[in-house]
Amino acid sequence: MFGHFGVLTLLGVMTWLSGCCSTPLTQSLQRFEFKQPHMGTLFTITLYAPDEVRARNGADAAFAKIAALDRMMTDYDPESELMQLSRKPVGDPVTVSDELFDILQQSQRVAELSDGAFDVTIGPVVRQWRRTRRTGILPAPEALARLRSAVGWQKLKLDPRNKTVTLTVPEMQLDLGGIAKGYAADQALAVLKGQGLPRALVAASGDIAVGEPPPGKRNWRVAVGKLDGKDGQPARILFLNHAAVSTSGDAEQFVEIGGQRYSHIIDPRTGVGLTERLQVTVIGRRATDTDAFATATSVLGVERGVALLESQPDLAGIFVRKNGGDSKIFRTKRSY
Ligand code: ADP
Ligand code: MG
Repeated sequence: MFGHFGVLTLLGVMTWLSGCCSTPLTQSLQRFEFKQPHMGTLFTITLYAPDEVRARNGADAAFAKIAALDRMMTDYDPESELMQLSRKPVGDPVTVSDELFDILQQSQRVAELSDGAFDVTIGPVVRQWRRTRRTGILPAPEALARLRSAVGWQKLKLDPRNKTVTLTVPEMQLDLGGIAKGYAADQALAVLKGQGLPRALVAASGDIAVGEPPPGKRNWRVAVGKLDGKDGQPARILFLNHAAVSTSGDAEQFVEIGGQRYSHIIDPRTGVGLTERLQVTVIGRRATDTDAFATATSVLGVERGVALLESQPDLAGIFVRKNGGDSKIFRTKRSY
């Protein structure tokens, strides 16, 4: 009925759907796809709706949500809620919006579980790394040490009862780049569901959230790309519904200095970009989790990363470690 639907390529992650065999109940649903740039990447919404007006209204509402979250969390706009928070006097509890509190709370949970490998207080070091990417000059050890004194997830205090946030040392900067896209994908999917469009997929480059499957299908087919980010045969295909998948790796964003390649993911223990060539795919229930855990497990490496994912209900992972020309794959016991 719906024929075959092409291939959608998103920065190394490909998803595709094929629809035959629709059931009478869902026969009238058509597939629609919408794209918009947000959070420095391209968001794609794929959904099934009875007609174009319903589809477009739903997608508009979902994109509006993503745009609002972007405005709230961006560190490129000094007036975003996140940046205003960073300027508040040290030690003062600051009341923040429910959503900012929610994402910070989820961030702190992953920080604690990963023993600080995921750390949204990494902001000062991320800013330094952006400069390093532009100039090709590594920060001096003393400069790095100074920046790192403002980093540490335990320096960020949350009060759930009053929904306040306290930054406890000077010069702190929060950076939600490791969790924001997953959070936005989850929220966008929830908006679509609220609009009566539960058969949807929201993709933000490496972060994908899926709801109910396409009509007549049991799952969405999500294909995860190769470590080098080149097109070609997908490394593996995941069959997912009501689930999320995130891939973190150094394929797209890195800086090379003195022959050494550094990832945009930073090890909070050293303040330096990761040098191991590792691609991590995390599968779970919500993209907020998979996004943050993909970043966390990239920092932790294969052994500790696998152990962390296996300690969590609903999380699974695939690690691809590249060594010279060879790739070695490691998986959690649980798989999808
Ligand atoms: P991508 O943006 O490619 O999807 P990630 O989800 O792994 O990749 O996020 C990387 C971003 O997260 C960085 O650009 C930076 O803003 C932030 N970040 C870097 N290192 C960490 C870390 N250890 N913990 C939390 N966030 C980090
Ligand atoms: Mg992430």
